[in-house]
Amino acid sequence: MLVGGEWREAASGETFSTEDPATGEKLADVASAGETDVDAAVAAARAAFEGPWSKVKPDERARLINKLADLIDANGDELALTETLDVGRPIQFSRFADVGGAVGQLRYQAGWATKLAGETLELSAPGEWLSYVLREPVGVCAQIVPWNFPLAMAAAKLGPALAAGCTVVLKPAEQTPLSTIRLVELALEAGFPEGVVNLVTGYGRTAGAALAAHMDVDKVAFTGSTVTGRAIIDASKTNFKRVSLELGGKSPTFIFADADLKKAIPAAAMGIFFNAGQVCAAGSRLFVAEEVADQVLEGIAGMAKMLRVGHTLDPETVIGPLVSAQQLERVTGYIESGRQEGARVLVGGERKEGPGWFVEPTVLVDTEATMRVRREEIFGPVLCATRFSSADDAERLARLGNETEFGLSASIWTRDIGMAHKLARRLRSGTIRINGSGGVDPALPLGGFKASGWGRENGKAGVEAYTELKAISVNLD
Ligand code: ADP
Repeated sequence: MLVGGEWREAASGETFSTEDPATGEKLADVASAGETDVDAAVAAARAAFEGPWSKVKPDERARLINKLADLIDANGDELALTETLDVGRPIQFSRFADVGGAVGQLRYQAGWATKLAGETLELSAPGEWLSYVLREPVGVCAQIVPWNFPLAMAAAKLGPALAAGCTVVLKPAEQTPLSTIRLVELALEAGFPEGVVNLVTGYGRTAGAALAAHMDVDKVAFTGSTVTGRAIIDASKTNFKRVSLELGGKSPTFIFADADLKKAIPAAAMGIFFNAGQVCAAGSRLFVAEEVADQVLEGIAGMAKMLRVGHTLDPETVIGPLVSAQQLERVTGYIESGRQEGARVLVGGERKEGPGWFVEPTVLVDTEATMRVRREEIFGPVLCATRFSSADDAERLARLGNETEFGLSASIWTRDIGMAHKLARRLRSGTIRINGSGGVDPALPLGGFKASGWGRENGKAGVEAYTELKAISVNLD
């Protein structure tokens, strides 16, 4: 763990181990933080926030963040390998998605350091006034990161916090701490003053819970499951800390009869199979027009069979393992529950024999809105498909799209531009793509409606969420 610029073990001496999900083999023992360690990290972050970091000018903050981006880029091969081994991401993706994602995030966020601003306004009260609003850093931030994109998400959290002038205690997921350890080492090398970036490694129920409840943490930024999001809200009540939550999804993909199927079919397939479906914005529900349903489902099933499932260091591998034995059990349990509730397995549906936590890319058809597989987030490579009729209008399709408790992301494939925009307006979803797919762009606000979270990360809204406003009025009479 990194506390106030020093590396240390847990005060209790406890450790936990992290494994390669493609083989189940142990990779490393990592310090397991308890309350004492969290207290020390928060105290270091507080001292830096009130001390040296508060004097660092915006252009210097930007320079440091950019320097960190340069160092990540320079160490990209090593970081990509670390991410592949710890997370189970096929190596062909980790260099650009993880390393490239982290670098892009930091470079984008660095720009905000010199652009954040308050405002002045006219008061209506009698007399002559000068009124202005200061935008200040929110303070000490706990940032709790999940296991699916540890490096890129840690960078996406660190960047805006540091740009805004906050200090940070990072906590990676217990399944995937390794790239974050290297990331904070690089932050030290970049020259951030000690205590600005701190790291505690450990379990959610101990280290994570202690951060969320801590009286001296001003903000907690969390990405993870909806269940844990609720626990974070409860814990944050101790001192009314600011909370941002990027939670689960059950995102719909709509493919209309007039869509460009050459693009829509592979996009829908990769929308659920990429990273073995362990993506919060995965397109896990497919609504397809009945005229093209057979063709689309055959196309997706064909890809499911063709995509290479294998060891993550094999450069040909497209689908890696799930992150843990627990996750494998969860996903296969959902497939079984779908079968029991009457869904039909069109392709996949089984665990892959041999070492590691692999499950076949799976398509379930004949799914109904009441089924658990259609309502709950599976976080695995499992697509639930349903047909719709060309008589269905935007209202009815939006009702289908909105039928879960989540509202994170959606994709629409049609050449009918009016329908695409009508449907996009009616979907209660934080991110919508029309006739295209793609990952996170740091300029776009990211977050969800309903149970998908609170607030937005990225973009202007994301960095402003690391600030507080202070209204100051001077009577000039
Ligand atoms: P999953 O259940 O898929 O592991 P979580 O949402 O529980 O996903 O995990 C995301 C992050 O939240 C991890 O860093 C984890 O350690 C942390 N976490 C888990 N439980 C808690 C909790 N009660 N309080 C704070 N953080 C937690």
